[in-house]
Amino acid sequence: MNTTAKKIKYPTTVEDTDQMGKRYDIIQCPTCGLKQKAEILLTSPYETYLHECKGCEYIIEEDEWNSVVTI
Ligand SMILES: [Zn+2]
Repeated sequence: MNTTAKKIKYPTTVEDTDQMGKRYDIIQCPTCGLKQKAEILLTSPYETYLHECKGCEYIIEEDEWNSVVTI
């Protein structure tokens, strides 16, 4: 049925993201289609796009980051 193949390219994000600031985006999960708020980590030199879907726990990475609305 629905095999949840988790693939994590990036290490777990650091704790002190408050110091770097945060940005949020509304994205749609590529597997279950759930639209949800996801955090973009303003890391250096590139922003980190990594979010676990609240619906199916799929790890959404930059390649599959389907932005619906930017807030
Ligand atoms: Zn999902």
